[in-house]
Amino acid sequence: MSDHVANAYLFSGRAGSFLHVAGRYFAAAVNCQNKTQEGPCCDCTVCRSIEQNTGVHFVEFASEKIGVDAVRQWQELVRYSHENGRLFVSISWAEGFSTEAANAFLKTLEEPPSGVTFILLTRQPWSVLSTIQSRCQHLVFPVLTGTIDKEETLTFPYLSIESLKSMSLLDRLAWVQELAKDKIQAKTVLGLWLDELWKNRGSESYSQAIEQVIENISQMKYNLNLRLHLENLVMRILV
Ligand SMILES: [Zn+2]
Repeated sequence: MSDHVANAYLFSGRAGSFLHVAGRYFAAAVNCQNKTQEGPCCDCTVCRSIEQNTGVHFVEFASEKIGVDAVRQWQELVRYSHENGRLFVSISWAEGFSTEAANAFLKTLEEPPSGVTFILLTRQPWSVLSTIQSRCQHLVFPVLTGTIDKEETLTFPYLSIESLKSMSLLDRLAWVQELAKDKIQAKTVLGLWLDELWKNRGSESYSQAIEQVIENISQMKYNLNLRLHLENLVMRILV
């Protein structure tokens, strides 16, 4: 596994996809002293040190705003070689880089220190600067079964964007009538759509659809006529 480890990853997923856990597990899977085909042992000194965040093989940074000072701190940390395994630096809220911080970090990504892997975590991959994204391997994490909050469970059949596209306008509107009955459900569906659109990004129509969905989500904080807005969205999206 360690032979194929990249210098930078972008882990994205919605709430409930446990990106932090995935980062730790990855660090353990690479560094574990007793690893098997099934993965790390979760019991050796290395696995335990990763679990306890002692900073030898795994360091975690979590700040909603990432300034240039933080980036300098990481650069200092990774300056020294890591001969006893690979150091993983986990960075939450990857969408929060200031311009200055992003520029400084790009220099690190362009000449990555050996033995170090950065893992950027985000719930909003569409907000992560494209210059940073292009230097990371992007892994999209699904929501794990059984970890969705109760209020996120839909009480009516979910329709993906793909299935929506093949439906008549009347059927779309009938479905929206159900969707609009509950704001939280509507938000959940729009979040799932964003994931789906994001995986197919690249074409102009999908980029436009991403913008439309984001606009709709951000409007939800106002006391608007939800049904009207959602109707408007499903009539315009990808047609
Ligand atoms: Zn182990």
